[in-house]
Amino acid sequence: MGLHLLTFGEALVEIMRPDVDMPLDQPGTFTGPYPSGAPFIFAVQAARLGARVGAIGCVGAEIDGTPDGFARCLLDQLRADGVDTSAVLTLAQHTTGAAFVAYRKDGGRDFIFHLRHAAAGQLAPSMIDQPQIAALFNGLECLHLMGSSLSMHDDALALGTRMLEQAQASGAKISFDPNLRPQLMSLERAKTVFAPFAAAADVILPTVEEAMLLTGAPTADKAAVELLGDKSGRIVILKRGEHGCSVFSQTGRVDVPGFIVQEIDPTGAGDCFDAGFLTHWLRGDTPVEAARWANACGALAVTKRGPMEGAATAAQVQTFINVTQQRI
Ligand code: ATP
Ligand code: MG
Repeated sequence: MGLHLLTFGEALVEIMRPDVDMPLDQPGTFTGPYPSGAPFIFAVQAARLGARVGAIGCVGAEIDGTPDGFARCLLDQLRADGVDTSAVLTLAQHTTGAAFVAYRKDGGRDFIFHLRHAAAGQLAPSMIDQPQIAALFNGLECLHLMGSSLSMHDDALALGTRMLEQAQASGAKISFDPNLRPQLMSLERAKTVFAPFAAAADVILPTVEEAMLLTGAPTADKAAVELLGDKSGRIVILKRGEHGCSVFSQTGRVDVPGFIVQEIDPTGAGDCFDAGFLTHWLRGDTPVEAARWANACGALAVTKRGPMEGAATAAQVQTFINVTQQRI
């Protein structure tokens, strides 16, 4: 049986300050490592909802070639959740990627990434020629690509491009989350680089801001209509943070309200949202039903400190939907 979902990108652990206003330029305590990386948060959330899901990535090794401690931290979590790790390669010459995170009082976050020279920075288009990775495209239902992973470096973009071609040849659906990261790639370049992915996509999942920035449209609705284009059956979902999301299709727009929760840590909301939407949409739920699950997964994600801690199981999300009020 093929995978429901396949993605790719940065495998890393997160090491974070335990309290707000502990800047990264002064000595002090950290907590972690926590398994992380947007594509891997996505994969864990989809697996917890019952999807068969895999991700292409690279982790680092000890001197004897076995996965290093950070790699084991991530791999153990992926395996515990049933994520297919056959496409996570252990690279002998590199160490596992890491992100150091500090939280500001105003809700902002500061990061120091160790990625480009880590295993995570070694993603390359030739990875797809490895038999166990090529095999993941057989019977694949949907390829999910994120702009943040495509923005890392030219080889990551080239790998994403080959994955897109391979998935299209296999008849898989295509999903694209622009996940704009101006620190990694300028908006001007992202507009050009992301165009073929958006053009191929059956589902596009930007935030309102991302949709407006990418299209240059003056309103969210105009941006969504531009992204919809004339590809038959395409769905565009605009994420609206605590307000939930809006689902756009050729038949119009439906607003799906967010759930009322206390936000503790915003990391991973968008990834959990994408996983919730795609897992349910692939099962045959209507886009609006799938968007309700997506809102629930996104809302639960922000209630816990730590990138994957808020990714809930299907039963937990169902209970949450039953008992939690929505923001009308
Ligand atoms: P990321 O930083 O992970 O890329 P994002 O900016 O792509 O996140 P957001 O709009 O912040 O995405 O959040 C995605 C979804 O998660 C929202 O559309 C909503 O459904 C849910 N969500 C996020 N924040 C909250 C919140 N404070 N309360 C309720 N739901 C939320
Ligand atoms: Mg996002």
